[in-house]
This record gives sequence, C-alpha cells and structure tokens, in this order.
Amino acid sequence: VALYLLKNRERVLKPLILSLQEAQHCIFPCSLCGFLDETDPCLFCKDEKRDQSLLCVVSDVADLWAIEKTRRYQGLYHVLGGNLSLTEGIAPKDLRMASLLKRLQGKEAPREVILALSPTVEGQTTAHYVRQEIQALGGSAEVSTLAQGIPLGGELDYLDEGTLSLAVVKRKHFEAS
Ligand SMILES: [Zn+2]
Repeated sequence: VALYLLKNRERVLKPLILSLQEAQHCIFPCSLCGFLDETDPCLFCKDEKRDQSLLCVVSDVADLWAIEKTRRYQGLYHVLGGNLSLTEGIAPKDLRMASLLKRLQGKEAPREVILALSPTVEGQTTAHYVRQEIQALGGSAEVSTLAQGIPLGGELDYLDEGTLSLAVVKRKHFEAS
C-alpha cells in the first residue's frame, strides 16, 4: 500500500492526506452513543423517527454499520469501543460503560437492550459483563442477544460442530412464511 501511494503521489496520496486531515478535524465520537460523526449528537441519536425503545450494543462502529446495512433495525445504538480482552489489555474501564448505564436509567430508558456482540471468547465475555452490569442496575429493560445458527445458503455437512450444535439447541417453531 505504501509503495502504491508513493508511486501515485498527486492522484492518490495527496487527496488521501487531505481527506484524513479533514476527518481528523471534523469527525468525533458522539457523546451519547460513541458513533463517529460530524455532529454531536450523531445522525442516529438525533433521528426522532428511530425506535427509542430499542438500544443495540455493539463493540465497534464497523459492527454498527454491518447491522445498519441489513435495514431491519430501526432503533438506537451504543458503541462500547472494543471487547474485554486480556491479551489486548482491554479492561472494563476502557469500554463506554458509564454512558451506557446512564442511558438505561430515567424515564426515557429503552425497553430492550440487544447485545450484538461477536460470538468469540472476547465478544461473549463482554456480553456477560454488560448483562451483569445492566442487571445490577435493577431496571426493567429486557436484555436480548443475536440469534445464532446456520448461515443462509449454508450446507449442513459443511458447518462446524459448534455452529450446528447451537442451531440444534436453539431450534425454533417452523413458521409458515
Ligand atoms: Zn450518537
């Protein structure tokens, strides 16, 4: 990448430097949810058409975009800023937890918190930690997590054991579509 940029100074490198400088000065984390945007509150937090009763907790802004791309979720978001990790040295104090717990208190608290964290050791450790903290608050919000199982278009005999066993355990009623 570095060689390509240096070979194309005027056409690629210069515009890239200008864009990065602009981003450095104009884009900041939203003080409510942690999303990166030019305004604070961000476009999601200030959109009154979104369902204020749903709050989706994600690790990173990239995960937020992935969910947003499905166009099936219309609630609010909260970006933790990472997952708990011993190897990477990420502790509870490094996550955006205080502002999350603050959002779950008061009159406008959401009725459901969706923990949309990765099915990795770090993601699930973080999910358990966040759930414990929410439950310690004693609020009335329901805590849910993403469904897990077979990917669309997946062949059963190609799936790993963990995914297939979870799909069997979490099987659901066969609904007419
Ligand atoms: Zn926001």
